[in-house]
Amino acid sequence: MKTIIEPNIINLVKKLELNSDIGFGKFMMPIMLTCEYKDGAWGDLHLGPYRKFEIDPSSKVLHYGQEIFEGLKAYKNEKDELFLFRPEKNAQRFNRSADRMAMPNFPEEKFVEGVALMAAYSRQIIPRRLGESLYLRPFMFANEVGLGIAVSNNYLFTIIASPSGAYFSSDSIKVFVERTSSRAAAGGTGFAKTGGNYAAGLLSSIKCKEAGCNQVLWLDAAEKKYIEEMSGMNFFAIINGELHTPQLTNTILEGVTRDSILELARSLGYKTVEEKLPINELLKLVKEKKCTEAFVCGTASVIVPIGSFHEENGTVYKLADDEGKISLILKDKLLRIQAGLEISPVPTWIHKIPKIDF
Ligand SMILES: *Cc1c(COP(=O)(O)O)cnc(C)c1O
Repeated sequence: MKTIIEPNIINLVKKLELNSDIGFGKFMMPIMLTCEYKDGAWGDLHLGPYRKFEIDPSSKVLHYGQEIFEGLKAYKNEKDELFLFRPEKNAQRFNRSADRMAMPNFPEEKFVEGVALMAAYSRQIIPRRLGESLYLRPFMFANEVGLGIAVSNNYLFTIIASPSGAYFSSDSIKVFVERTSSRAAAGGTGFAKTGGNYAAGLLSSIKCKEAGCNQVLWLDAAEKKYIEEMSGMNFFAIINGELHTPQLTNTILEGVTRDSILELARSLGYKTVEEKLPINELLKLVKEKKCTEAFVCGTASVIVPIGSFHEENGTVYKLADDEGKISLILKDKLLRIQAGLEISPVPTWIHKIPKIDF
């Protein structure tokens, strides 16, 4: 696999200007990285202009949803240093998702090279205030033509990128407890970052919005008893000063942020517990003020405190520390580690991206 960089992308990036309100995932960098899989092998990595795909209407992804993606960020600080945070974790998870969706693995070192290249060529446009970043979106889809239900023989791997501000505008969020519909069942695809999981959750997101909430909290599909996660973020509760999070199963997506928070919290002296978290027990602890705080976490949003839990019947459980206390300490620490402003508890988490001269 060679790496081919089109020289004209430098001009595309040079003449770029960002307006002040970039938001999240709205503005796309004018460059993208692609790699094609054909006849059992990956072709070259190709960094070129952002452009539209031409997809045959009978392409398998459009009918059977064989698709996976990743999400990670490049962080720039005031000193113009640029970092990736644990990109090899995303590369590994991408291949776990690929395995589940019967797709070919993408070489981990090429995945990391690809995101690093996209970040390096985007450097000058990446905002540098704490919480801002370049959001990178690697994805892969089945691109074989024909309506037969079968594993595709052709795939396209792509990385696009979007300079981003903070994900949520409000400080704490209202969480809707989803007690009827499910996101992921045992033996299914819940642990994979595949488009269908998100499509399955969209109807509940409408119900959630109508109830005045921001995020759906999913429970286990079998018993509707245990907390699993949000549609794109993992869940933590602070109970008697300890960090509790649902233990991983094949119905929960293993977040890099989740893992980093567990490690970071332990390094700061907090006790962490990975366990089954029954929703009704948690709501009781919230009422008794033993669970004072809860938060959601993911690459896009980092850490967002939960203000309250909402049942479909209108019952509301408000958290004592509804604006977050420990959550905000952890958030600030993590952001500073990611931007290279504070020593990482694990030095290998941080990958510095060398400067390329235009
Ligand atoms: C991406 C994602 C997360 C968070 O993972 P990070 O690696 O922390 O960004 C959690 N849950 C779901 C369902 C996700 O898609």
